[in-house]
Amino acid sequence: MPIVDLEHASYSFGEYWALKNVSFSLDAGEFMFLTGPSGAGKTTLLRVLYGGLPLERGSGMVAGFSLKNLSPAKLPLLRREVGVVFQDFRVLASRTVFENVAIALEVRGMAGPLIERRVRAVLRGLNLETKSQARCDALSGGEQQRVAIARAIVVNPKVLLADEPTGNLDPRLSFRIMELFYHFNQHGTTVILATHNPELIACLPHARVLALEHGQIVEDEQAAENQDDRAPAPYEQDASLQEEGFSEHFPHYADDADQDSAPETETEQDR
Ligand code: ADP
Ligand code: MG
Repeated sequence: MPIVDLEHASYSFGEYWALKNVSFSLDAGEFMFLTGPSGAGKTTLLRVLYGGLPLERGSGMVAGFSLKNLSPAKLPLLRREVGVVFQDFRVLASRTVFENVAIALEVRGMAGPLIERRVRAVLRGLNLETKSQARCDALSGGEQQRVAIARAIVVNPKVLLADEPTGNLDPRLSFRIMELFYHFNQHGTTVILATHNPELIACLPHARVLALEHGQIVEDEQAAENQDDRAPAPYEQDASLQEEGFSEHFPHYADDADQDSAPETETEQDR
């Protein structure tokens, strides 16, 4: 059963149809780029998928929840399964980096010590550990963007929706972030990443690419069958990233005690 499924989905802002008859389905564990020029409808599509905009026509399903007539009671349940990195970050300006990320776990009722470990691991993975106690309004755009990413991934969502998540980052950091998303994907998280940057898409040659124009799908390029055929991603060629052991800092490995939201079988001691 697909984890994301849209059938003839449409959405209009007044007279203007920002999404027109969009149909696609995504299996659990897929990585899909959502691409297309500015104004194509990428953000609108992501908003529909997390219940931020109602589905006006057609039908849809995300992580087992129907998007049609999604009740206010169901919305928080859907949001538990879906991590979102917003294009405009939406970090809490007067809170610290740590608080911004921890809040996502606090609302899920996670115990304090586990929150501490998980948040620290995610911040480490995003090179934010030295900023942990800084207020978000004292951060650069790129740092705020990483806080937004940290907050979305810290909960280990089933589905991760990321809207232009590297828009404010330099190429080197962008590749790191891509590696982070890819790592999560390899551990079972379904990822939909909106970008108009072909270099990011080239990072993962085996990912699926859905292209939108004027609210319609103009191309749906399925992932390559044989992953061994793919060209090495830029980060795989970047020896300095390997030396830094960046891969070892991913949060998935950080908590062995978290049964509730850690479907992974791999565990590793917290570092
Ligand atoms: P993208 O993310 O691909 O750049 P969007 O989904 O943000 O595109 O926008 C798709 C279209 O919908 C654009 O033409 C945009 O102007 C329009 N649009 C987006 N948000 C609104 C809004 N709140 N009110 C009216 N029109 C909107
Ligand atoms: Mg957008």
